[in-house]
Amino acid sequence: MKSALLFFLLSLWAFCAFASEKDVEGMFAQAWKLKSKAPVEFAALLDNLATHNHSFSIEQKLEFEYLDGYREAFSGQPLAAIEKYERVIANTADSELRLHASTALLNIFAITRNYSEGFEAVTQLLSQLVAPGSEAAAQAYLGLAIFYNQVDEYDNAYSSASKALSLTSDLRSVCFGKNLIFESQINRQHIVSKDNFKEGLEACKLAEEDVVIASTIILEAKNYLNNADHGAAQELLIENRAIFDSISYPRIKAEYHSLMSTLLFESNSISEAEVQALTALNIASEMGATKPNVDALYVLYLIEEYRNNSSKALTFYKQYAELQKAFVDEVSAKQIAIAKAKNEAIEKANQIKLLDKENALLKTEARLHKKELQNSYLVILSLLLLAAVIITWLIVTRRIHRKFKLQARTDKLTGVANRHYFTELAQSNLRYHTRTEQDLAFVIFDLDLFKRINDSYGHVVGDWVLREVVKTIQRVCRGQDILGRMGGEEFALLLPGCTVQKAMVITENYRSAIAAIDTTPTGHDFSVTASFGVADSAQCGYDFNSLYASADEALYRSKETGRNKICGFEPEIVSGSLTEQPV
Ligand code: GH3
Ligand code: MG
Ligand code: MG
Repeated sequence: MKSALLFFLLSLWAFCAFASEKDVEGMFAQAWKLKSKAPVEFAALLDNLATHNHSFSIEQKLEFEYLDGYREAFSGQPLAAIEKYERVIANTADSELRLHASTALLNIFAITRNYSEGFEAVTQLLSQLVAPGSEAAAQAYLGLAIFYNQVDEYDNAYSSASKALSLTSDLRSVCFGKNLIFESQINRQHIVSKDNFKEGLEACKLAEEDVVIASTIILEAKNYLNNADHGAAQELLIENRAIFDSISYPRIKAEYHSLMSTLLFESNSISEAEVQALTALNIASEMGATKPNVDALYVLYLIEEYRNNSSKALTFYKQYAELQKAFVDEVSAKQIAIAKAKNEAIEKANQIKLLDKENALLKTEARLHKKELQNSYLVILSLLLLAAVIITWLIVTRRIHRKFKLQARTDKLTGVANRHYFTELAQSNLRYHTRTEQDLAFVIFDLDLFKRINDSYGHVVGDWVLREVVKTIQRVCRGQDILGRMGGEEFALLLPGCTVQKAMVITENYRSAIAAIDTTPTGHDFSVTASFGVADSAQCGYDFNSLYASADEALYRSKETGRNKICGFEPEIVSGSLTEQPV
């Protein structure tokens, strides 16, 4: 056996010394296999694996921490293991590894009887067991069953172990699962069938789990006792004596001998019962107040009483009573600790629920706030949109208004002010000139014999002439002069700052410019002339109608006296040589 171990360690050393990345993965896989089966080889493998930690990925580092924690837990350093498991749980991205670490953590709390942390670990573990099962999940359910049995929650232990069995076919897990189911059933005083025990024991034998075999046999014996079949229980225990001798698990060994002593005493094998009781006491001497201890002392007391050895009987009875009290105290302390831990767990769960509720409230508030913000954005957006619509509407209506206004003011054919608008402009100018008392002249001109142009060349040409006359006047007139079409081929001009004399001089430019119009673009060559009548504010005041009438009168005279000329108001004709120009 020793040489086999030596060989294993040597080959492990050789393997690890030249390990590649793939080999490291292989070593991890091997470590998982060895961890519960072969603690010595497992520890050696971990030591060697540690020398390769520089090449570990982040997940491998966490995997190593878990395995190392497992080793520490097995070698009696649960606190160091707890730290490692918690680090793995907090940091791993691998849900299987997290489940393994959480299960291991629960096992430690179960072993160290830390019920409060244990219940917390149960909650954590259950939260991870929502996804479909795996081998890690089966292990987790086994861990839960162990803990539940320990805190006397046998129904939960039973269902957890059953769940584990439904998830695994691994012999070791089946062996443990069955054992946990038996434990929960016996503690609930349920009778387990012989076949069931047989199945469990077969799995354990194949898995070579001697300690669990021994534990299962004890449970089977208790099952017989529950069934009041003391003979069968005794027979079973005697049959399997060898397995109890081979294991080094004091709690189970003590239980075996204690149970045997009770059964032997009952069947009147007094001295054999005494041997078994003393063996039980011897094994359990370090274990404090336990059931095997208490029962063994009670049997010893009964034996001495049976032998009528009252002083010895009294001594054992006193020891028994003391230990029994300590045992009851311990049991009730355990019950209190469990109840307290359960309360704490409930309180914590309630706190978490409360925090969740607060969190939900805050989230709702945040959502509401967001919604309010969104709503106010919506309101602002709608207002902006409305403003944009109103502004656009205003711009459009203003444009339409301006267009209509312009259309209403201008002469369609020539684009100058129509009679109505010209009158408006003239009157506002007159008002201004009334205040400033500046001179102002009013001119009316009418195209000569225009009808003849229309008749000779058509209306289109006539229109062209009208437009050309306007263009010509606009080209030569002063910036401040105002031109308007009064109707047909009659136009009016307002010349601010002019007396009649000055106006006649300026008007002469207009007359000559009209007379110089080149009509060839129409395809016809003919002359265009106009006759002018001028009046001023000095003659007529600043009254539009008076000015109009006076200028018209002068115009009439221009027509009368030969056309293509300018006449000023007053009977006197001022156009000079120009008046005599033929049409
Ligand atoms: P006079 O020298 O005495 O003013 O003679 P006239 O032919 O110019 O005067 P009359 O009043 O007899 O004729 C004016 C003509 O102007 C009659 C009319 O057909 C024409 N007319 C008026 N408005 C327009 C217009 O917008 N386009 C055109 N082509 N002809 C117009
Ligand atoms: Mg006319
Ligand atoms: Mg005319």
